[in-house]
Amino acid sequence: MMMADVYPWHQATWQLLLQSRTRQAVPHAMIISGLSGIGKTHFTQALSAWLLCPQPTERGACGQCKSCQLWQAESHPDYRFLQAQTDEKTGKTSRVIKVDQVRDVVSFLNKSAQLNGYRVVVIQPADILNTNAANSLLKTLEEPGAKTAIILLTDQPLALLPTIRSRCQHFVLSVPSVLQAQAWLAPQLKQPDQAALLLRLSENAPLAALALQDAPWFGLRQELAQQLVAVAQHKQSALQASQQWLKNLKAEELLLVLQLLLADTLFVALGQDNAIKNTDLLPIISILANQLSVTRLIELHRDCVESQRLVSANIQAGLLLDGFWQALT
Ligand SMILES: [Zn+2]
Repeated sequence: MMMADVYPWHQATWQLLLQSRTRQAVPHAMIISGLSGIGKTHFTQALSAWLLCPQPTERGACGQCKSCQLWQAESHPDYRFLQAQTDEKTGKTSRVIKVDQVRDVVSFLNKSAQLNGYRVVVIQPADILNTNAANSLLKTLEEPGAKTAIILLTDQPLALLPTIRSRCQHFVLSVPSVLQAQAWLAPQLKQPDQAALLLRLSENAPLAALALQDAPWFGLRQELAQQLVAVAQHKQSALQASQQWLKNLKAEELLLVLQLLLADTLFVALGQDNAIKNTDLLPIISILANQLSVTRLIELHRDCVESQRLVSANIQAGLLLDGFWQALT
């Protein structure tokens, strides 16, 4: 069985790494970054399997050898994957990667490889290494040993310590062109004609767009927009709407859709209809744009962005959203 190829929009970076192995100059420490939802995980897995495989092809790992079989069985002895730990009792996932986890990886790298390929460590996402963990990784990043690759995966490379960044070679994975993204996405959708809409709502990140077709908020956008109109027209109580929507969607998702809808409403209010993302909702968004002043729309949008920040910092969403819905009236 062949391993899956990397996505077409990542071929340029793939070729760079291919050449580095031919020259026996694979970077021993790499940062792989790029927008969320473009396939960084897929790329890193293909890269890891290819490095571990002692007889790789130009497309990736051979898929046949002992190393590839162990990789496919998720039991390769020369590979370590580091992520935030989940507490078995509470089910809560830690917000950080801790120093003990890094120490385990360091001692793993102090032993020699069991098979004939590389040793590979992937840290995902690397931006949640806490300061102690990051510091205990520094020496290893400088001298990880022969045929070793440490791969730090992140959406936010600037959140890494400068001392970490300076020790790694940095690869920024590309976002596809609109045509590339549509060609990849459309055949995989339940409704292929939604490809353009899903991509607009996902910053043109194809994997994010693919996941979005099943996200509850995607299907609820129209109902939410209609409810905004009903509250703005005093046909429905703001507090009732607020409570109902907190049951329908998670606060983060609700605030994201509200922010997207308000941004579009603002565009329409300013006469820039063709800039909107929710193109399928233009009629209802136009009604909302007539209902609210530009000043009010700017305030509401700003409140939404601020609430997103507060909720991501663990502030309770209920009161924020009650205030938001009341400001519509
Ligand atoms: Zn192989």
